[in-house]
Amino acid sequence: MKTVFSGIQPSGELHLGNYLGAVRNWVQLQDEYRCFFCIVDYHAITQPYERKDMKPRVFDMAVDLLACGIDPERSILFVQSSVPEHTELCWVLNAVAQFGDLARMTQFKDKSQRQEDNINVGLFDYPVLQTADIVLYRAQAVPVGADQVQHLELARRIARAFNRRWGKVFPEPEPLLSSVPKLLGLDGKAKMSKSMGNTIPLGAEDKKIRKLLARAATDPKRERREDVGNPDDCNVFSLHKFFSDEGKQQWVREGCTTAGIGCVDCKGALADNIIDHLGPIRERREHLRANPDEVHEILRAGGERARQVAARTMEQVRGKLGLWQ
Ligand code: SF4
Repeated sequence: MKTVFSGIQPSGELHLGNYLGAVRNWVQLQDEYRCFFCIVDYHAITQPYERKDMKPRVFDMAVDLLACGIDPERSILFVQSSVPEHTELCWVLNAVAQFGDLARMTQFKDKSQRQEDNINVGLFDYPVLQTADIVLYRAQAVPVGADQVQHLELARRIARAFNRRWGKVFPEPEPLLSSVPKLLGLDGKAKMSKSMGNTIPLGAEDKKIRKLLARAATDPKRERREDVGNPDDCNVFSLHKFFSDEGKQQWVREGCTTAGIGCVDCKGALADNIIDHLGPIRERREHLRANPDEVHEILRAGGERARQVAARTMEQVRGKLGLWQ
């Protein structure tokens, strides 16, 4: 089995955008790969945060990942800071990562603009820690969205530079591009994000899901209620593609283009399907929240398993570098 690594920031509870864009795919990958799923708290400290919030954010993320179907029997789910080898390897890789390459990273430029008063070195070095995360487990593949391709390309370059300078240790990780249809926020303007308030939290109650969907943007060319619409230009229909079967999608298509149904019915049908889909996830979520020791134990055991692999890699790395050990 090939190894896959993927990380997610401890941003607290998952929302529909994380679920459809990444986590749903992770759950499927478990059938074919040996997966390491990491809650990357060392990455998170490069951005402003409240100290008291960090542990609850990690816990909430772990609960939601498990509730969505990450299976600790098949995959290793752990917290980055429980495996110090991540930061150790990051330092080693800093010795081959090139300043010019890091300076070109679009995400660094974006984040620097967003936090102009705190352009810390960690933000700049973020892609090197990301590379360490991946190669520490000798992952051959990394599930990525289009916005992460640049970082993975850099990770490949850094792994290659290490192997050239000190001898082969790391495979060059390949991107696993998932075919997720384009999905905008519920406001129709940007991608779904918690900070923009344009998404649906996975734990949202039925009433809230209906309310959020009722306000969701539709086909922007549909100006009046009586106008027909075009499902292919409507973000609500994009969500139907995830949650509704072919028959329901056809019903929406016909109704939308011939004014047979209104957006209210269309959104109501979507809400029913989202609520059905999220039902079992919410049940598992409630169970885990009521049993926090279970979650702590899964993360502890995952950290231990990850650390065993990481320790073996670092022993080899230190040997290649000729370090004292
Ligand atoms: Fe979008 Fe549905 Fe309204 Fe058509 S009927 S514009 S698909 S919300």
